[in-house]
Amino acid sequence: MNNFDFHNPTHILFGKGRISDLNDQIPADAKVLILYGGGSAERTGVLGQVRKALGDRMVVEFGGIEPNPRFATAMKAVQVIADEGATFLLAVGGGSVIDATKFIAAASRFKGDPWEILTSRGAVVKEAMPFGTVLTLPATGSEMNSGAVITNAEKGAKLPFLSAHCYPVFSILDPELTYTLPPRQIANGVADAFVHIIEQYLTYPVAARVQDGFAETLLRTLIELGPKALDAPKDYDVRANLMWTATLALNGLIGAGVPQDWASHMIGHEITAFNDTDHARTLAVVLPALLNDQRGPKREKLLQYAANVWNIREGEDDARIDAAIEATRDFFHRMGIQTRLGDYGVAASDIETIVSALTEHGMTQLGEQGAITPEDARRILETAQ
Ligand code: NAP
Ligand code: FE
Repeated sequence: MNNFDFHNPTHILFGKGRISDLNDQIPADAKVLILYGGGSAERTGVLGQVRKALGDRMVVEFGGIEPNPRFATAMKAVQVIADEGATFLLAVGGGSVIDATKFIAAASRFKGDPWEILTSRGAVVKEAMPFGTVLTLPATGSEMNSGAVITNAEKGAKLPFLSAHCYPVFSILDPELTYTLPPRQIANGVADAFVHIIEQYLTYPVAARVQDGFAETLLRTLIELGPKALDAPKDYDVRANLMWTATLALNGLIGAGVPQDWASHMIGHEITAFNDTDHARTLAVVLPALLNDQRGPKREKLLQYAANVWNIREGEDDARIDAAIEATRDFFHRMGIQTRLGDYGVAASDIETIVSALTEHGMTQLGEQGAITPEDARRILETAQ
């Protein structure tokens, strides 16, 4: 196991009706800027609950943060903070709203050109405005981590950053807020969380028993409950388990002390930057093709994955690996997610653009050993066509 630091300062308030505890989490003298997305928070009534919980405090609102949040939109919110003197941010939404809020929190306290926050992957961030979240879509884990991904449409770039200053102070996780999700977003959330776990688990070398055990339990939970969430959209226990699984998938716990891959994410980001395909769907395309391609180095862990996650224990090594990758694809299909590039309007002739963008963004040594080059990514994408 590698050396690690594990420090996660986010206070989680989990369960039914927890928005009623919101006001106590924010300093009494704070001027709050509520940030939300394209309208679902208003329609579903969650914004109404938030406004009510905040009572008569000073509140400003900023809506219109889009899925795959845009740099330009975030910069408008930074201007609102300057104009209104807001001192505390409250994200109400899914990963896009929370990610944008992290960037806005950092950019509003940043002296130089905020684009550098992304090109430096967060290294230049020395402080950020405090913020909390009310999560409406379990998927990204952004509610309990310090990462965010921002898209710059003009530059054709979707770039991640991380900063220890960008953990939410608190996150409210009420599973009932997820009842209004359309099937497409339920499926996306399950697939994204699934791939987050795989990116930290299905790596080599293999030595972290506790992290592996947690990861395998989280994967089996998604496999069992993901389809149930589609069939029974108001089953509280299904939603509660999925919500907590998605948070634990990417809050640092299973990633502590283990080599981490993230190649599927980095390649997937370029597909989203190319044609705005949903984040999770890009992962469902890239991951099975990448596992197949990397079956040599990942062999031992793929066999463990086959046995402990899919109960595939019989047959030759390669046959078991094939079966595990096929089971992964089938799982995405059961969630209503297609797994081929062509399903999302990406033609063979577009692969060059995606591979060039990886190089342009410095994504030239991907994977847990830095061994996946843009040429490898090209081969992976060709087999995903
Ligand atoms: P999202 O983009 O935040 O939301 C997707 C859609 O779901 C939006 O159209 C939103 O509508 C709607 N929605 C949200 N909650 C709803 C509810 N309760 N009922 C009905 N509709 C609802 O989706 P996401 O998957 O959570 O976030 C994806 C983004 O996170 C991507 O940009 C991805 O790259 C990033 N990401 C971040 C991390 C991280 O660690 N920070 C990890 C993985 C991915 P409205 O816009 O109308 O609200
Ligand atoms: Fe993700």
